[in-house]
Amino acid sequence: MRGMIMSTESQTFTEKFDLLGCIQCGRCTGGCPVTVRTNLNVRRFVYDAYSEEKLEELAKLAEIWDCTACHTCAVRCPKGLKPLEVLIGLRSMLVDSGKVQSTVRNALESVYLEGNPWEKPKATRYDWMEGLDVKLAKPDTPVENLFFVCCTIAYDPRLQVVAKNMVRLLNKAGADYGFMAEGESCCGSEIHTLGEELLFEEIVGENTAFLNDFQARRVITLSPHCFATYKARYPHLNKPVLHYTQLLAELLQQGNLSWGHDLQKKVVFHDPCYLGKQSGVYDEPRRLLKSIKGVELVEFDRSRERSLCCEGGGGKMWVESESKKERLAETRIKDAHNLGAQIVAVACPFCVLTLEDAMKALGYEEEMRVAEMTELLAELA
Ligand code: SF4
Ligand code: SF4
Repeated sequence: MRGMIMSTESQTFTEKFDLLGCIQCGRCTGGCPVTVRTNLNVRRFVYDAYSEEKLEELAKLAEIWDCTACHTCAVRCPKGLKPLEVLIGLRSMLVDSGKVQSTVRNALESVYLEGNPWEKPKATRYDWMEGLDVKLAKPDTPVENLFFVCCTIAYDPRLQVVAKNMVRLLNKAGADYGFMAEGESCCGSEIHTLGEELLFEEIVGENTAFLNDFQARRVITLSPHCFATYKARYPHLNKPVLHYTQLLAELLQQGNLSWGHDLQKKVVFHDPCYLGKQSGVYDEPRRLLKSIKGVELVEFDRSRERSLCCEGGGGKMWVESESKKERLAETRIKDAHNLGAQIVAVACPFCVLTLEDAMKALGYEEEMRVAEMTELLAELA
């Protein structure tokens, strides 16, 4: 890891995060979903961080690791601030000094050495393709849709099915696409939120050069985390980026995709924070679900920009929560259960892991299912 490299940042904390713009209205804390189970008060951090001499003390507070980077505070701030970035800035100070927990250090080191945060070898990143009829992209061959497979989907045996199903759906639709069979590496989403700014900048530079080299019309991501990161934090990427639900909705609209089976179920869609609040994609997943004959699509009370975070983002996969209070994923599953939903449809690998875990912990396995959208659609195609 390069935590020992000192930041060359010349802006003060106050300038970087526009702290003088804050009017202390508290809307950020009022909307922060983790306040119900932790001591995090993000408004307070924005206030205290104005005193540069307090920064070191603030960075030692355990609450800075409670933030899931859901962006609710940024959506609600009337002054256009991003309060969560203050917490990430404080994490960054700790990373620079090397004083982070071992799980975080290992994830950062793994991205640096192996191009993924899961401590898996680079060489096995493409194992999910085994036995599949998958088209591969080459930089010098034009392709319409260049796929970027998230590290979590590429390596996690529960989630590899997302990439596999995507290939089946694309083949069925006769889409022009290509997956990368070498050189693909972490987008840096979680590295950024864990506070490793310098490594993140390096990753952005390398991935930009790598992706720009392809003669592709656009990049399609399987995870909303990669999607939001490429869209918001890769200023020199020379192609538009879409989330796969947008592509599938387009293929459906063009008549290239259809469903061979009905699904007589009550389904609720859980908006992933990185797809919804952060990227404004709400309609395409719903359009896909509504296109399935028999589906009764119901909505959470807290949906779209008010959607409840599952606590999977912001590097939380590598930071154990100290709170013993109910996890937000459990609250979400209880809400789905109260709605009578038989399927909780999700479109994010982290949401699958947190919500499925919560569903099992609550003992609802017999009554409901957490399904990634590609799982559901590939079964019906
Ligand atoms: S919502 Fe914005 S302006 Fe209001 S307290 Fe939070 S950071 Fe300050
Ligand atoms: S990003 Fe979400 S969890 Fe983090 S401080 Fe903002 S509202 Fe709270």
